[in-house]
Amino acid sequence: MNVYEYVGNLHMHTAYSDGEALHAQVAQAAEDAGLDFVIVTDHNIWVDGLEAYYGKALLLIGEEVHDVRRKPQANHLLVYGAEAEMVLQAKDPQMLIDEVGQHGGFCYLAHPYEYAGRFGGEEAIPWVDWDVTGYVGIELWNYMSEFKALASRNAVAAIYSAFFPERCIRGPFKDMLRHWDYLLSLGKRVPVIGNADAHGTSYSMGPLQRVLFPYGYLFRCVNTHILAARPFNGFLEHDKALIYDALRAGRTWVGYDLLGSTAGFEFLARSGSNQALIGGELVRTGATIFEARTPQEADIRLVFNGQILARTKGTYLKHTTAEPGAYRVEAYRQHKLSQRSWIFSSPIYVK
Ligand SMILES: [Zn+2]
Ligand SMILES: [Zn+2]
Repeated sequence: MNVYEYVGNLHMHTAYSDGEALHAQVAQAAEDAGLDFVIVTDHNIWVDGLEAYYGKALLLIGEEVHDVRRKPQANHLLVYGAEAEMVLQAKDPQMLIDEVGQHGGFCYLAHPYEYAGRFGGEEAIPWVDWDVTGYVGIELWNYMSEFKALASRNAVAAIYSAFFPERCIRGPFKDMLRHWDYLLSLGKRVPVIGNADAHGTSYSMGPLQRVLFPYGYLFRCVNTHILAARPFNGFLEHDKALIYDALRAGRTWVGYDLLGSTAGFEFLARSGSNQALIGGELVRTGATIFEARTPQEADIRLVFNGQILARTKGTYLKHTTAEPGAYRVEAYRQHKLSQRSWIFSSPIYVK
């Protein structure tokens, strides 16, 4: 299968909910950051009629749905492709996921692990109803959730991480990674996305006030790369279908592109004449050979059942195994004396 890589960000807010910018400005910031597409996901409002190419970047519109009456807050759901307002089903996460499916859409669980911020009165909003079924995957790495956790430690940490985020941002939460591996060990298919959750909001901390994390900055950080089955042709409906097909199939990886673009990353598996790419299923005819290539040197790890099965420092990893199950790749890069998360691939499923 030939695939065509595109990079986007799938979780952000505009002035229609609690963000600052409007759609055209968000799209401009996406184009400036070199993204191919963005998907706006305002809280509990599906905004119709604004999907379009604004310059080079395609802007699509989904929704981030939650039950506003629920105390404490939990279960933010990213909805894509439902093409209708879904908030009326917000009360029951399973009914919501089912309703989205009936409308031809699909869901990813937003920031499933979160830790409360002590500043700005922000509470943690994790996913708690883990017995739901029918969602496609999880938002493994949410940039603003990580910032919130960093800022929760103390006032100095809050200000430091606000002004020097690139020195503090490390990667997905350990508990999130453990939970993901647990779900995979049960035999579930769980692809991942990584996003900004950009709002463009001004924060004030004592005497300091500034727009923290403008859209344009965040679009250069944690992104979702997709492998489309065909190249984009510049038409909204055509390219939108390719993006949503790739997201449904889990042909994705999460890239912290600020450390170096993750474009060009490859992960595939072969067994006899069978071959599978990220998100795909491989039927074994003997041993399975995994290969991963990174666009720059990294600490590359092949992960199976929560364990590092193979590891290499460089740009190429190869490993042969016989076990069925879900295999995924992580890559880390050295940055300012410490290791930072760089790439998290969605799994390949070996039968
Ligand atoms: Zn949220
Ligand atoms: Zn959000």
